[in-house]
Amino acid sequence: MNVEETLAQISKEVSACTRCALYHSRKHAVPGEGPAMAEIMFIGEGPGFYENEQGRPFVGAAGQFLDQLLDQVGLKRSGVWIGNVVKCRPPGNRDPLPDELAACDEYLERQIRAINPKIIITLGRYSMAKFMPNAKVSGVHGQMRRIGERFVIAMYHPAAALHQPKFKPEILADFAKLPGLLEQARAALAKAAPVQTAEELQEEPKQLSLF
Ligand code: URA
Ligand code: SF4
Repeated sequence: MNVEETLAQISKEVSACTRCALYHSRKHAVPGEGPAMAEIMFIGEGPGFYENEQGRPFVGAAGQFLDQLLDQVGLKRSGVWIGNVVKCRPPGNRDPLPDELAACDEYLERQIRAINPKIIITLGRYSMAKFMPNAKVSGVHGQMRRIGERFVIAMYHPAAALHQPKFKPEILADFAKLPGLLEQARAALAKAAPVQTAEELQEEPKQLSLF
């Protein structure tokens, strides 16, 4: 399976998933969307009212603000992947529960593995907690950290910035840094790219000698 097919397979499984109680109240699961080769993945919390209606991530007020933030730094929504830590709407937009987060995590893990982004941007505390369990968004937002094969940047949730105006300048400033951070991430990961081993280099002549 190529990456597109893997992502489509995951979306199909998510749409029929009954692994946690959230499936009872969903209208549409929201697997997430974006290009298979995305360098940046945004990970929010979970679908809200409009996302549950449409089966697409960040299409309500927070989503419109996210579009503006992307626009501000010359990024197109269609160029990034956008998803959530839980794929079905928690009733009344309550916070996701630990067992729901645990049940849904496998899908996100598979999506990350398939896309292999350079940067993951967590929006809000639930997605941040997956990567930085003891951090607070107020303490680490906008800082890029290397975690395994990629970089992670925690940011405030755009809905928080809409509801509490004091966060707005901070999320704007964090987005403004994104083009520079993406350059840094590209450079660091290019340098760290695995070099072919002597054995791999020898494989080609061996194959050629068959003919
Ligand atoms: N808030 C989220 O965390 N995710 C969405 O998809 C929409 C709003
Ligand atoms: Fe399945 Fe995730 Fe939906 Fe729960 S939230 S039913 S684990 S897709």
